[in-house]
Amino acid sequence: MICFALRCRLGHEFEGWFKSNEAFEEQQRSGQLECPICGDRAVEKAIMAPAVARSGRNEKPQANATAALLAFLRALRAHVEANFEHVGDRFAEEARKIHYGEAEPRDIYGEATREEVESLLEEGIDIHPLPWVPKLDG
Ligand SMILES: [Zn+2]
Repeated sequence: MICFALRCRLGHEFEGWFKSNEAFEEQQRSGQLECPICGDRAVEKAIMAPAVARSGRNEKPQANATAALLAFLRALRAHVEANFEHVGDRFAEEARKIHYGEAEPRDIYGEATREEVESLLEEGIDIHPLPWVPKLDG
């Protein structure tokens, strides 16, 4: 697996894991890559700025990377909670209704079982798992 720093047209930066560089290029070509913040599909590799551990102690860059990732995940969660409708365990039902035009198109989030997620994906319904982290005040 390779981790690439990616960026959308609006400048949102995020990371993606790929089996290989070819797998990344294939997904990029076929429009499968999507910015987790705004949904933009024009995703490119961001310029890498590798951290260099000058003194040979590399704990600090690692800690910074983790903090940056946690901050990103918190921002993502706040964005979803502010802009998406929470449908709880009715997620699969609502996602299906929206997909088949039986409910108003809107952004939703909620809980779904592994089986529900698999059957939604099999039906070609566009859903994404969200990596939640604990809230700071929690
Ligand atoms: Zn974006």
